[in-house]
Amino acid sequence: MRIDLHTHSSVSDGTDTPAELVAAAAAAGLDVVALTDHDTTDGWAAARAACPAGLTLVPGMELSCRWFPADQPPISVHLLAYLFDPASPELAAERARLRAERLTRGERMVDALAADGHPVSWAEVVARSGGGVVGRPHVARALVEAGVVESVDAAFAGPLHHTSPYYVAKADTDVLDGIALVRAAGGVPVFAHGLARSRGRVVGDDALATMAAAGLLGLEVDHPDHGDADRSHLRGLAADLGLFATGSSDYHGGNKRTPIAACTTDPEQYERLLAAGTGSTPVAG
Ligand code: AMP
Ligand code: FE
Ligand code: FE
Ligand code: ZN
Repeated sequence: MRIDLHTHSSVSDGTDTPAELVAAAAAAGLDVVALTDHDTTDGWAAARAACPAGLTLVPGMELSCRWFPADQPPISVHLLAYLFDPASPELAAERARLRAERLTRGERMVDALAADGHPVSWAEVVARSGGGVVGRPHVARALVEAGVVESVDAAFAGPLHHTSPYYVAKADTDVLDGIALVRAAGGVPVFAHGLARSRGRVVGDDALATMAAAGLLGLEVDHPDHGDADRSHLRGLAADLGLFATGSSDYHGGNKRTPIAACTTDPEQYERLLAAGTGSTPVAG
């Protein structure tokens, strides 16, 4: 069984439509794929409708969150959520709030870039997102096409980096609230790419222990942004905290270099995830 539990479609900041994404998953030889667009479930129906024979689709989402350390500014973190009820009103309201937050913050970033003479416009960035969830990758593509930077990677290393004067933070969900919202919706919260140091500051083991006590159920261990030492550390921590460990590609289509199925989840760990989710069900094509 080959299982990839973290992918993005064009409904957020990937480039494959949900139908193209499930086709790519099957073509890559996956048996199970989870669709985990940022802050939305809008891709679920199209992905389900297009799910090819032999592939199982796990409905999911990646919630934009923050961890609040006692003595430092908040740390941006991502919470994967699986098998929750999309109609649960509190979680639905929170993801709607986050999408609105993405629009205000995206517009502020693009307006600041434009004010400094970079030939990008908010209307163009919104058009590029196709009416979906706007993220920095859309701004990055606009900067590439305007000739401001050579690549999406260069945009993230330069004008869109979290230390750039153009960067605007989002008012993301307190991750402890996110965990509670996902559990209340019958879902399974899994902490995403917890030691992806290239993205900025990462949380400590104490934070993960606090999250586990608050209802976190899994840690994403095998991820393209984790080195071997960090994977071993997270695997050990997951065992110590009674959490299951997942592996996934965090595929974004052409917006990132990583291919689908680049990292995968052990079937026994996947069974633990399945057993914990009661808000929605996987769909077999
Ligand atoms: P945002 O959520 O709008 O702050 O944007 C963060 C998103 O950009 C995350 O989904 C990352 O996966 C993505 N991202 C981060 N670094 C890169 C990169 N170098 N190339 C493409 N996407 C990236
Ligand atoms: Fe993304
Ligand atoms: Fe993420
Ligand atoms: Zn992701």
